[in-house]
Amino acid sequence: MDAMIAAASELLDYDQVIADFDPVLGLEVHVELGTVTKMFCGCPTAFGADPNTQVCPVCIGLPGSLPVANAKAIESAIRIGLALNCSIRPSSVFARKNYFYPDQPKNYQISQYDEPIAHDGYLEVLLPDGTPWRVEIERAHMEEDTGKSLHIGGSGRIHGASHSLLDYNRAGVPLVEIVTKPIVGAGVRAPEVARAYVTALRDLLKALDVSDVRMDQGSLRCDANVSLMRKDATEFGTRTETKNVNSLKSVEVAVRHEMRRQAAILEAGGEIIQETRHFHEEDGTTSAGRRKETAEDYRYFPEPDLPPVQPDPAWIDELGTTLPEMPWVRRTRIQEEWGVSDEVMRDLVNVGAIDLIIETVDAGAGAEAARGWWVSFLAQQANSRGVELSGLSITPGQVATIIGLVDEGKLTTKLGQQVATAVLDGEGEPEQIVADRGLEVVRDDSALQKAVDEALAANPDIAEKIRGGKVQAAGKIVGDVMKATRGQADPARVKELVLAACQ
Ligand code: ADP
Ligand code: MG
Ligand code: ZN
Repeated sequence: MDAMIAAASELLDYDQVIADFDPVLGLEVHVELGTVTKMFCGCPTAFGADPNTQVCPVCIGLPGSLPVANAKAIESAIRIGLALNCSIRPSSVFARKNYFYPDQPKNYQISQYDEPIAHDGYLEVLLPDGTPWRVEIERAHMEEDTGKSLHIGGSGRIHGASHSLLDYNRAGVPLVEIVTKPIVGAGVRAPEVARAYVTALRDLLKALDVSDVRMDQGSLRCDANVSLMRKDATEFGTRTETKNVNSLKSVEVAVRHEMRRQAAILEAGGEIIQETRHFHEEDGTTSAGRRKETAEDYRYFPEPDLPPVQPDPAWIDELGTTLPEMPWVRRTRIQEEWGVSDEVMRDLVNVGAIDLIIETVDAGAGAEAARGWWVSFLAQQANSRGVELSGLSITPGQVATIIGLVDEGKLTTKLGQQVATAVLDGEGEPEQIVADRGLEVVRDDSALQKAVDEALAANPDIAEKIRGGKVQAAGKIVGDVMKATRGQADPARVKELVLAACQ
């Protein structure tokens, strides 16, 4: 027993996990639809309103209230199903999933069970090195979201809290849950397959414009099921389900952690318990949640207050024609337009730069300059500020403005970077920063001439060399002038002035 407890807190080396086991994954992604109103009532869905201001008898489950399904939500669910290459069920039913939880005011959740609206599809995913991977989709079904519990006092978790508050604004917001078939055979790549899948799904949902897919606001949430099979096993092992993994990186981290944790237990002769687990963002670990209910515990039965969903086949066909250009098709098209290699394109995708570059170009910048800014200077800034590229507080429009100022020769690249840094630090708009700080390139030759003369006078030996025909020696003088003008001179013009002075 002691050995088991010790093992439970240990992690097996990842290489050893892979040597001894095959991982099996199952990903459940909940996406909050961007409909204006809730799934079964007319309450607004806007994020961030005062608690319990967006509720009505239907979504807080008062007796006698009756739900009506939101047509726009059904439309979104069908479009998601079609985009995932699923079959759309001609008649699908809502079901009551019974369980008590304080943030679930009706004591049941309206979901779909054995007849989900979409089933049996797939999503083609590209791994970071460009390897394609097909993830099979089991189903996509409609359901409603729960409210939110806020635990007051202590760390924000229920343990150690003095009391809890409930906000039902989110109760009844439409969700589509997308569930994969077991993902087998990924081996060492299982964590990256998980991340690549959620990334591809997020991009697809964004292209469909059915959700704002903000993982940080919970509009896209991933539960990661992980189990291990010994190399010679013929049946899947017992899985755990790590809930609410709320960033793309965390999906990868959580899967990897679960693989190492489970392997340590199995190697020590222990057993995996089928349970939910909480993910801890701070250190990338998971901890035990509740023992997993089985389907029977939920006493599913068809929702008696709602008719089956029977979309007209003609409508489904019509929705099929509204699908946007799929992200992977768009990606190929953009790569051709930009004329970049597979490798460069992959890097652009991996750092999440594609949309930002396109928006920067749309705002008037050249494609090459836009690419350069996002993948070098701004990528470094994102890195040092510990955020994703899209999380930087500079807009593509502002980047385009700075690129424009550099193109016009009003700023050097270096000055442009200073302006960008100031924008990132919240100092305002680029033009304003240039004006406030007097950052424009010094165009005034007489001011430059003075700095050139001073630099030459301070370095007589170098001046002599230049006069003797050693043009390369001018570099040091140009550098000194740039320093003296705090980077505000145009280096090419300075060089001309230096050479002219040494004629
Ligand atoms: P639950 O209601 O328990 O969440 P679901 O059917 O909604 O179950 O989702 C379970 C997910 O786990 C699916 O993606 C499924 O493919 C996957 N899965 C099933 N068995 C295993 C297993 N042994 N190991 C890993 N994943 C599994
Ligand atoms: Mg589930
Ligand atoms: Zn309501």
